[in-house]
Amino acid sequence: MDNSDKVHDVIIIGGGPAGLMAAFYCGTGGMKPLILEALDFLGGQSAALYPEKPVYDVPGIVECTGQELANKLIEQVMQIEPLIEYNQSVDEMKQVDGVWNLYCKSGKVFKAKAIIVGTGKGAFSPIKLGAPGEDAYLGKGVYYTVKRLADFKGQDVLLVGGGDSAMDWTCTLKDLAKRVTLIHRRDGFKAHIGAVNQVKAIAQAGEVDFLIPYEIKNIEGQGKVEKVTVFNNQTNEERSFPVQSIIICAGFKPTADALKKWGLELNEKGFIKTHEICKTNLPGIFAIGDATEYVGKRHLIVMEFGEAASSAGAVSTYVYGKGKGGAEWWAGPKKKKTEDKETVTA
Ligand SMILES: Cc1cc2nc3c(=O)[nH]c(=O)nc-3n(C[C@H](O)[C@H](O)[C@H](O)COP(=O)(O)OP(=O)(O)OC[C@H]3O[C@@H](n4cnc5c(N)ncnc54)[C@H](O)[C@@H]3O)c2cc1C
Repeated sequence: MDNSDKVHDVIIIGGGPAGLMAAFYCGTGGMKPLILEALDFLGGQSAALYPEKPVYDVPGIVECTGQELANKLIEQVMQIEPLIEYNQSVDEMKQVDGVWNLYCKSGKVFKAKAIIVGTGKGAFSPIKLGAPGEDAYLGKGVYYTVKRLADFKGQDVLLVGGGDSAMDWTCTLKDLAKRVTLIHRRDGFKAHIGAVNQVKAIAQAGEVDFLIPYEIKNIEGQGKVEKVTVFNNQTNEERSFPVQSIIICAGFKPTADALKKWGLELNEKGFIKTHEICKTNLPGIFAIGDATEYVGKRHLIVMEFGEAASSAGAVSTYVYGKGKGGAEWWAGPKKKKTEDKETVTA
């Protein structure tokens, strides 16, 4: 059955740390949450904005990167088997006969009795270069994320960017692709110095091409990317070479425009005003994480985990009535993995 065909008990908008843990606590309370995520991956800011940055202040984890934190949260929430819809950016919401209808930019409509808004700083979209041909070849050789490494096997690949993603994908794809070229528009990098040095070393060894300060001048091809022209933005010298894929790693930007249309009470800074147990001004709509603000709020992951648990309990009470659903703690998954064996507990 399509997730848009039924009325869900609870939909969580946003698959960042707050939304993921809200889904987890909904699941441990016996609910089957549906997560709607604007991107094609989960993890929110930690995965999209700072995958390589160290995180030191999440309880129980002395140190990890943003991506490692996202991976752990995803692994944890997958235990309760949530429903997940990717590439669903919620644009509008309306309550019809007690049921919230969420209208996504994709044209899909999802319905639920209760909603947890975990939209953080807003829906992320990739930062575009504005290069000629970039939009025309989107999905036909121009990409902003790498979904399947195998898609680039044997190809001439152009990577664009100076951040950790560009460095990482250059190193990862060099052994799989026919040829990898990395261009960056300036002699300064957002990436970790170690990652930059690694790419410089493999470029020196002739394993990849690394061009600085170069930008895309034009993308060409018959229906799909076949050739690119890049130029030196200091000397205007141009180079053309065949490529089948261009991966643009310029980062992601959040847009919180949708939130303003939803009828939620916002404070002067544009954050959702929440009251006890993450309630908003609208019935059945709860809000958590970076999207919210209240006295004492800090925009830290540790606070979002608490709000996630609180909102799940509140949703349980809202949907099933006081006292039903929602456990104080969870006894763990029914299927536990011990080393390579799967055991079923009662
Ligand atoms: C550079 C940087 C470093 C940081 N370092 C730390 C740190 O070390 N420790 C710490 O505690 N905190 C840190 N933070 C803050 C922390 O990342 C945030 O508090 C946290 O990510 C907020 O989680 P969230 O789930 O509320 O929102 P987000 O992480 O922003 O996730 C929201 C998700 O909702 C999705 N979304 C938004 N709108 C829609 C929509 N309309 N429809 C569908 N999906 C939507 C987005 O695509 C996104 O995936 C850092 C933040 C930044 C920017």
